[in-house]
Formats: sequence, structure tokens, C-alpha cells
Amino acid sequence: MKRDTHLVVFLLLIIGCSLASLTVWKVLASRDRALEDVNVHGLNLTQALATYSEGIVRQSSLLLLGLVERLETEGSGPLQIQRLSALVNRQQPLMPQLSGITIYDNQGRWLMSSNRPIPAGANSSDRAYFIHHRDDPSREIFIGPPIQSRSNQEWVITVSRRFNDARGEFAGVVAVTLGIENFLRLFGKIDVGQEGAIGLSYTDGTLLARYPFREQDMGRNFSKSPIYAKYLVDRSVGTASFTSSLDGVERLYAFRKSDKLPLITTVALGKREALTAWRMEALLSAVVVTGLLGLTGLIGWLLILDIRRRTKVEGQLRGTQEQLLSSNRQLELLAMKDALTGLANRRYFDVTLAREARRAQREGSSLALLMIDIDYFKLFNDSKGHVAGDFCLQSVGKVVEECVRRPSDLVARYGGEEMAVIMPDTDIAGAQVVAQLILRRLKQESIPHEASPLGRVSVSIGIAAAAGSRLDPLQSLIEAADQALYSAKALGRNQFATHSNG
Ligand code: GH3
Ligand code: MG
Ligand code: MG
Repeated sequence: MKRDTHLVVFLLLIIGCSLASLTVWKVLASRDRALEDVNVHGLNLTQALATYSEGIVRQSSLLLLGLVERLETEGSGPLQIQRLSALVNRQQPLMPQLSGITIYDNQGRWLMSSNRPIPAGANSSDRAYFIHHRDDPSREIFIGPPIQSRSNQEWVITVSRRFNDARGEFAGVVAVTLGIENFLRLFGKIDVGQEGAIGLSYTDGTLLARYPFREQDMGRNFSKSPIYAKYLVDRSVGTASFTSSLDGVERLYAFRKSDKLPLITTVALGKREALTAWRMEALLSAVVVTGLLGLTGLIGWLLILDIRRRTKVEGQLRGTQEQLLSSNRQLELLAMKDALTGLANRRYFDVTLAREARRAQREGSSLALLMIDIDYFKLFNDSKGHVAGDFCLQSVGKVVEECVRRPSDLVARYGGEEMAVIMPDTDIAGAQVVAQLILRRLKQESIPHEASPLGRVSVSIGIAAAAGSRLDPLQSLIEAADQALYSAKALGRNQFATHSNG
């Protein structure tokens, strides 16, 4: 029972451990998958956003190229500027991202501004893009840091080119202003959650546009952030995960550096937020598995209870069976024994004699039989009463039993005051020794029997023995012993006689 219970507990432990470890493994694997999905999603987004930003800058660049070409070939006199202004005013509606186009002379003075009159004395010689083009002979475009428009306070970034005069000297700057609002409108349509952010920066880490918009971050340099300091050092595209030093939120970043332009697009998602769906799934798994484990435990407990109950019932059954068996043995014993003398009864005598006869026939051994009859027993009864007679029978039985010592021998009460001894593997001579011993022991016992000529109880014994096929029919052995008994009586009692059947 203990073994069965241990087996059930062992099995339950195996099931429980397997289920738990499988769930932990599955939950961890699905977390990795969720993070991987976020990274792939982020990279795809940076691709789309970078393409959009590059497109706008490229359009601006093309427009600037045309304007510079005309300024350099036709000059920047009032007439030419007027013509250019008309051209720009026709072109601008085709590019809604453009906030405005401004032309400056070599002193930073405004020569033309699309859509609005030039403010009196307007000068932008202090702007970064002006200083850059004045000091750098390169004809490439310059993407300036975000600035707040002096006229309408709108945040813009500038894309600008320098134009030269006929001698190749610096003649001025043409600048296109792109409203940050344009970028924010698109960025805002992308769901990056409460903790996410989308950014467009210059390669030196200067932030050009960020969604959600934060005024204090505009134009700020983030070159110390791990994205620039660590990841973008040897890669132009990738993903990263780190805790922001600004707000302490751990984010998953996807970044992409533009191939041709000095622009970097980043998409960041709050890690905790990105794993919300996974967390729900993990929680659900945990609840289901805990339920399953509980159910398994309950079934196991019921199984153990059942085993215990069954073992108890089995124990009770075994006890009852043992009691029955012992009662049966007692009954058998009672059925075999003679109640008065305690010797084997007649039925047991018959069974044993038949069995021993078969064995003797099989083995060819000799089987001897003694028939013992108490002499003048009627007189004993008559003179001393039946109770004394019974007692005498018991005493004689005990004497006979003492004389027969081999375990295979059997002393039985044959009937009335007659007893019989079955002696397997014994011939006439052996049987005579036992008969002699019985007579001698009875003489020693000397049970008084005044009515007998001897003055004590004596017996007459008939001896017969047979071997092999002579034992068939068995009745002949009994009859032979009976006849020998008659002979012993006839010869004067208190003696044995042997029947020889040749
Ligand atoms: P013999 O020497 O020829 O054997 O004489 P006997 O008197 O013994 O012969 P008989 O067979 O005539 O007598 C047997 C008597 O044994 C008759 C019966 O009263 C008595 N007897 C038989 N069974 C029992 C018994 O169980 N108890 C008692 N007390 N007497 C018994
Ligand atoms: Mg008799
Ligand atoms: Mg007798």
C-alpha cells in the first residue's frame, strides 16, 4: 500500500514538474517572440518613416537646385527676384510640406520670402544655416537644426543651399523651411503607446522632430544617448533596449540611418507596454496550469484515499479469511477426531488406510494393521458403570498412542471399545513388536478390572500385514486383522495373534 501511495505521489510530482517547466519554457519563449515581433515591427516603421522624411528633404533639395541655378545665371537683382517670387508662389502649393522659401543676400538680408512681405530690416545672418554656407564653399544642401520661426513661432527645420556670384564668391543662401508639424502629423498617426516615441535626428544627434512633441527637446543634442554613442557607431540599422536616462523608462528602440542623407529615424516602444499582451497570456497560462495542477493533485489525493480505503478493506477481508481458515481447520480437526478418546475417528481411519494402501501398492511397501479390542469390556461397564468405562477407553487409547511413535503411524478408534493402528512401511515382525509393547505397557498401567480373570484391563490384538497387489481389495487386510483378533480372543485374550494370508 505504501508502495502504491509512493508511486502515485511520484507520478503526480513528475506530471506537476513537467507541466510547470513546460509552461515556464513556453511563457519565456513567447516573451522572446513578442520582443522579436516588436523589433521587426519597429524596423519596418523606421523604413517607412525614413523614406517619407528623405522624400521631403529630396524634394526640397531639387527645388533649391533649380532656384540656385537661376540665381547664379540670372543674378539676384530686384527684377530677377520678382520673377523668382512669382515662380515660387506657383510652385509652393504643389509641395504642401513647405512652410516657406526665403532668399538671403551675402549679408543675410532677406531678398525674398514666399507668401509674405519681407519684414523691415529682416536679417538672418545669425542663423546656423547662413553661417554654414557663408563659411563653407560646398554646394551641398545643409539641414539645419530646428528653429522657431521669428514671424509665427512655428517650429521648422531648414534645408538650404548657397549660391555664388559670377566670380564664384558667396552671393547668398536659398532656404526652404519645413514645418515640424508635417512630420508630427504623420508620426502621430502611428500608435506607439503611452511610453513610445518617434524621432528624426541629424547624424550628430541633434533632434529635428519628435513625437510626442516636447518643446524642451527641440534642437537638443542626444549624441550621449546609447543609440548614437554605442549602437550607431558600427551599424546603420538595428535594434536596442535600454533604460532612458531622461525618464527612467525601459524602451525597445529601432533605428535607421539614411543611406544618402545625414538623417536618423528612431522608433521607441515602452518595453513594459510592448509586453502587455504577452503578460496577459502568461497570466492566463499560469492560471490554467495552476488549475490543472490543482485538479491533478485532487485526483491524486482521491486516488490515494481510494488506495487506502481498498487496502483497509483488503486487510479486513484477509483477517476474515484467516479467521475462516482457522475455523475450517478446527472443524476439520473436529471432524477427524473422536470426541471421547481424542484419537482419529473412523472416517479418518478409512481415508488414511485407503491412502496408505494406494501408496504401499505404488511403492511396493508393506502396510501393517493392528485391531485392538478390550477384553471383557462389557463386564467392566457392567461392574463399574459407563463413566468409568469411558475413562478406561481413554486410558487404553493413551497407552496405545504412546506405543506408536512413528509420525506416519495412525491410531484410531475403530468402533466401540475397538481401536486400530495403521502402520505404513511395516511388516508383520515390526507390527508384532508394537503389539507386544502395547500389551506390556497395559500390564504396567494395570488398570483394575476385577471382573476379568487377570484382575486388570487387558486387550487382544489381531495383526495383519500385506504388500503391493495383495492390498487389493483393501477389505481383505481388515478382515485378516479381524480374524487374527478373533484368534487372539479364542486363544485366551491378553495376547496378539497374527493372520498370515500367505
Ligand atoms: P470380549 O472380551 O469378548 O471382547 O468381551 P466384551 O465384553 O468386551 O465384548 P462385547 O463386544 O460383548 O462388549 C463390548 C462392550 O463395550 C459393549 C458396550 O457396552 C461397551 N462399549 C462399547 N462402546 C463403549 C463406549 O463408548 N463406552 C463405554 N463405556 N462402553 C462401551
Ligand atoms: Mg468388542
Ligand atoms: Mg471387547
